[in-house]
Amino acid sequence: MLLKGKSAIVTGSTSGIGLGIARAFAKEGADILLNGFGPQDDIETIKADVRALSGAKVEFVGADVSKEDDCAGMVATATQAFGKVDILVNNAGIQFTAPVHAFPTEKWNAVVATNLSSVFYLSKAVLPQMLGRRWGRIINIASAHGMVASKEKAAYVAAKHGVLGLTKVTALDTAGTGVTANAICPGWVLTPLVQKQVDALAERKGLSKEDAAVELLSEKMPSKQFVTPEQLGGLAVFLCTDAAAQMTGTALPMDGGWTAQ
Ligand code: NAD
Repeated sequence: MLLKGKSAIVTGSTSGIGLGIARAFAKEGADILLNGFGPQDDIETIKADVRALSGAKVEFVGADVSKEDDCAGMVATATQAFGKVDILVNNAGIQFTAPVHAFPTEKWNAVVATNLSSVFYLSKAVLPQMLGRRWGRIINIASAHGMVASKEKAAYVAAKHGVLGLTKVTALDTAGTGVTANAICPGWVLTPLVQKQVDALAERKGLSKEDAAVELLSEKMPSKQFVTPEQLGGLAVFLCTDAAAQMTGTALPMDGGWTAQ
């Protein structure tokens, strides 16, 4: 068990990529604080499922990461429950699409607050204790859209590029302290966030959902295969090992060749 004795906050872990990373950490023995939205019954099922993977402690806080007070409260709860927070995965994120000239300002504010400001709020809240113990891992789930753009994603692309900038500054501000900060840049992963985009494409072009998924992949990913939450979990675990102690300030694509083009 690579992460026995470590404790982690994974934001947006009631679904998709965050849940995949939480499960990967739990399998390696880490205590996990889950976060996100969803019906209470579903959250209880997820907690039991993650707990069953290793018997480590599993807590849940329904904090809204777009709010600084909620972020500080979540770090305080995790610290009380586990004694410390060693690993922070900033994963929670939302999407909204519209051309820039028609992009609703309230959607811009919501996407930037959830996908970018949250990373600042939580990093700020957790870093003092990581620096005090001279060990910590901050893993920011950015996107291929942190490196390149797509049309109609003004807020998302701006926020994800911002996440890469913030990751680099965090790495410089903590260099040599035992704390590292890195970003993972996934290509398409078939989660609820992307299923909505597949459904919209199917509707717009009169395609079946399967054909729409293939078209979405073909447009961007040379591999034409989805990345999985399990594969992203494996990379996140690696970033927490001693082998990755000198990796900091990086942006790691896992995107089937998307950004190699
Ligand atoms: P998802 O919709 O399946 O899950 C998002 C999670 O974030 C859920 O648990 C949701 O409850 C939570 N969440 C949303 N707003 C929140 C808030 N304000 N406070 C707390 N939790 C909140 O999405 P996903 O596809 O698993 O995406 C996870 C991350 O990966 C996002 O940052 C996304 O931008 C990024 N990403 C996804 C893909 C993809 O193809 N799915 C690709 C690249 C990057």
